[in-house]
Amino acid sequence: MVEIKIDKCPYCGAREFAEGYHYDEASIMTNSSGIIGSKVIYVICKNCGSIVHSRVANPEVFNKSTDSTAPSEKNEK
Ligand SMILES: [Zn+2]
Repeated sequence: MVEIKIDKCPYCGAREFAEGYHYDEASIMTNSSGIIGSKVIYVICKNCGSIVHSRVANPEVFNKSTDSTAPSEKNEK
């Protein structure tokens, strides 16, 4: 996964962050069927509480979302 580097909070200038997660029902789905989706990871400023950055945990599922029929994970290498 690409590492996101955040130097300081754009709102208050603090440099300490925590990660937070939405879970299960708050996943972002690739389409309205709600079958394929990803958890959301938030970077939260410890000082002011702003959500400085948010991303999905598994962006690759969105790359596959155009070929609609459930692509199973391929772990063969
Ligand atoms: Zn802040």
